[in-house]
Amino acid sequence: MGNNKITKRSDDYSEWYLDVVRSADLAEHSPVKGCMIIKPYGYAIWELIQKYINELFKKSGVKNMYFPLFIPESYIKKESKHVEGFAPEIAVVTYAGGKKLEEPLVVRPTSETIIGESFSKWVHSYRDLPIVINQWANVVRWELRTRFFLRTSEFLWQEGHTAHASKKEADERALEMIEVYRKFAEEYASMYVFVGKKSESEKFAGADVSYTIESMMQDGKALQAGTSHMLGQNFAKAFSIRFMNENKESEYVWQTSWGLSTRIIGGIIMMHSDDDGLVLPPKLAPISVVIIPILKKDEDINRKLLDLSSNIENMLNDICDIHDIVIDMDTDKRVGEKLYEWEKKGVPVRIEIGEKELSDGAVSIFRRDTKEKNIVAINGIRSYVDNLLIDIQSNLYIRSKKLADENTIEVSSFDEFKDALSKDSKFVYIPWCGRPECEENVKELTKASTRCFPLDQKGYNHESKCVICSEKSVGNVIFARSY
Ligand SMILES: [Zn+2]
Repeated sequence: MGNNKITKRSDDYSEWYLDVVRSADLAEHSPVKGCMIIKPYGYAIWELIQKYINELFKKSGVKNMYFPLFIPESYIKKESKHVEGFAPEIAVVTYAGGKKLEEPLVVRPTSETIIGESFSKWVHSYRDLPIVINQWANVVRWELRTRFFLRTSEFLWQEGHTAHASKKEADERALEMIEVYRKFAEEYASMYVFVGKKSESEKFAGADVSYTIESMMQDGKALQAGTSHMLGQNFAKAFSIRFMNENKESEYVWQTSWGLSTRIIGGIIMMHSDDDGLVLPPKLAPISVVIIPILKKDEDINRKLLDLSSNIENMLNDICDIHDIVIDMDTDKRVGEKLYEWEKKGVPVRIEIGEKELSDGAVSIFRRDTKEKNIVAINGIRSYVDNLLIDIQSNLYIRSKKLADENTIEVSSFDEFKDALSKDSKFVYIPWCGRPECEENVKELTKASTRCFPLDQKGYNHESKCVICSEKSVGNVIFARSY
């Protein structure tokens, strides 16, 4: 078990984050710098994420498959913007089987190129379209500064890839998938997100348009939690993915790609946890309920406590569904230690049963998010816990939205803009010119970048000028510092 002490958020936010990860036993460092070992409890969160995302994907007509880890180096070089964007982070295998390879192999940083090559073989006629596939995989992007889940050199993700006969269909698919991510973030991860379009300098290398969901962490920084790209015909032209349309004319396909990674686990941790450790939304908590019988030296009482514990477990089994219920029968630890341990693991609901509870016919139920405790009659436990899990799920979402609402501000001058980003670390919403030079200038002065042009541009005034450079604006954008 990890270190007991958790740094306070107000003392050192990044130490706090590491302590939360360590004390919940989610992950640890690997012998290779920048990589991480995901422990069973951390991996169980990922499995829940996979399960729900797969369900949402299936509803959206997505089929899973798998492409290889290695990509011929020449493929990566075929789309010029793509290679330019990924070159600094690429890992290459030059030796294998005791010999220097004829062509070096890139360890996939993403799979547009190798999938593009396959699409060019699969697509001949408009009848072969659309193709809508996804893979769950690991990817490698050599990062210099890494942090558990949020940024690691190797990470797990899903990457979806599609090919369509028309631009319209591809546009719609890119938007449909960002909507899937929004739904997942808000309804399963209880994370309020801004949905929007990336600026030219922040978009995916090789995309025409990138959509993103961005969430505000407790320190006011943004976390990009999922992206969906309209790739236009860029990869289609690089890999010659053509089809015969209904009029027997040869055309290039239109493509999209979209991904969500283990990074979202970092976002969930940072979003919900507190100074006592991990807090998890019930839908993504591997263990929903822990039952703690407060065991004594008296065998007879202990038997009754354990009987009641397993009765309660049975009552709650179908409510907890795919999530575990644990009865903590450890007799070595003191009760206080046990309670704290489950708190650090972020188990949403804790039920304590002692001698008094036995005689009263009621138990004490603790909720991790607000740390409130209530006494509940045994015959009412089932419906109480059922409602409580729903309530915790929505309370965490409300808290997340409130944080974002309170810390997103509109400013009208560059001085206010700088203050909001350097002093306070807010999300700042302004009319902006869209020019990369203007964004570069802001990055140097404040370390903030554009997060997105929210899709909802309600209230945008077409006459307004860029708050930073006074050029004509192209839309309202959110600037923030980010992870
Ligand atoms: Zn500007």
